[in-house]
Amino acid sequence: MTETPAIPDHRPVLDHGFVRLDAVMADDLSVVNAARVSFARRKDAMDASDEGLIRFLMRERHGTPFEHNSFRFHVRCPIFVAREWFRHRIGSFNEFSMRYAKATDDFYVPAPEDVRSQVGKPGAYTFESVDPELAESTRETLESVYRTAYEAYEQLVEAGIAREIARCVLPVGAYTEFFWTVNARALMNFVSLRAADTAQREIRRYAEAVESFLAEKMPVTYDAFVANDRTSP
Ligand SMILES: Cc1cc2nc3c(=O)[nH]c(=O)nc-3n(C[C@H](O)[C@H](O)[C@H](O)COP(=O)(O)OP(=O)(O)OC[C@H]3O[C@@H](n4cnc5c(N)ncnc54)[C@H](O)[C@@H]3O)c2cc1C
Repeated sequence: MTETPAIPDHRPVLDHGFVRLDAVMADDLSVVNAARVSFARRKDAMDASDEGLIRFLMRERHGTPFEHNSFRFHVRCPIFVAREWFRHRIGSFNEFSMRYAKATDDFYVPAPEDVRSQVGKPGAYTFESVDPELAESTRETLESVYRTAYEAYEQLVEAGIAREIARCVLPVGAYTEFFWTVNARALMNFVSLRAADTAQREIRRYAEAVESFLAEKMPVTYDAFVANDRTSP
């Protein structure tokens, strides 16, 4: 059997989504050199004192040296996840247009174990598993609504209605795509908020994917972030 090679810059997320690292200009050395320019000093390789400096900057929340880098992500996620994501203003977005292109017929159907109930009150909700029959019937309801919505969309487009109007029938479970370019400081803020237990499970999965790229490209910075209770500097 031929093995499928791993795609290192691509992380599948949910049923039809992904996070792909489209381009990156990021390393730990940029943090150190940005901080040391204050003393007109520059290094070409990291050593133990540089690692200590990064931990110091993180701990003392000297945030700007963590801004001299860039991650460009290509993301495919449900619209409701994108809405949460776009609240993060420090970064640049460009999104797929349902005015100009035909909408995708991919919709998010949670895996049975992700169908959940909401217990408690605002600020203190817990989300608990439901019995398998309810999980299955929920999935069937979603699939049926998605099917009907997409048929209506296609009929409207077929009848000559502009895509920008026809899209009104599509639910927030429809998938969208966007590019997101962000520096490590804003990325840590995103991960801190969106990979947390309090964030919605679906965006949390995406936050975990982008977090894995941060850990890979800036390992010293990432370790310092984790050691600092995952608080962005
Ligand atoms: C669990 C959870 C629940 C949420 N629920 C809701 C909700 O019910 N309703 C809702 O509307 N939003 C909600 N949000 C979104 C939240 O209020 C923020 O808009 C979002 O998390 C972006 O965070 P941010 O402003 O830190 O990020 P960014 O916009 O990326 O900003 C990064 C940092 O830059 C600084 N900054 C950016 N813009 C400004 C500014 N204008 N003034 C001063 N400083 C600035 C701040 O230090 C900020 O932390 C929720 C978020 C989470 C994680």
